[in-house]
Amino acid sequence: MVILSHPNPALRQRAYDVDPASDRSLRALVRSMAKTMYDAPGVGLAATQVGVHKRVVVFDLEEGLIAMCNPQIVERSDELETDEEGCLSLPGITVPVSRAARCVCEARDLKGEAFKIAAEGMLARVLQHEVDHLDGVLIIDRATPEDRLAAVRRYRETNDLR
Ligand SMILES: [Zn+2]
Repeated sequence: MVILSHPNPALRQRAYDVDPASDRSLRALVRSMAKTMYDAPGVGLAATQVGVHKRVVVFDLEEGLIAMCNPQIVERSDELETDEEGCLSLPGITVPVSRAARCVCEARDLKGEAFKIAAEGMLARVLQHEVDHLDGVLIIDRATPEDRLAAVRRYRETNDLR
């Protein structure tokens, strides 16, 4: 699978909910997405990034692969944390992004079973980042106006875009 990069308009589309119980293609999708993520290499990938508009994300923070169908951030801490964030769809740059320090994410697995992850630190950041992709939102949208301008300029230079 090819990872789409900004400014591909497909990255801006909102993905559709999936039904893991009836959508038999999801298993193969998750396998291909995982391979694409590990090859990149990256720690998370949303289906949107490979041009598939289904609400599916995969991630692996060195604790094994986790696939989430229809992930939803249902709780966010008021406390925010700002950190440099990268994205496989914006190769070559990082941007300071402020996100909830802790969050709870609900999803379904490939069998359709509901599960929930209470996350903090890097995992909380990855979950919020990947769910953003499903809504067509990129890290540059989460940056301050100044950081966004600088990041977009750096991105154009790094990727030789005019
Ligand atoms: Zn990303």
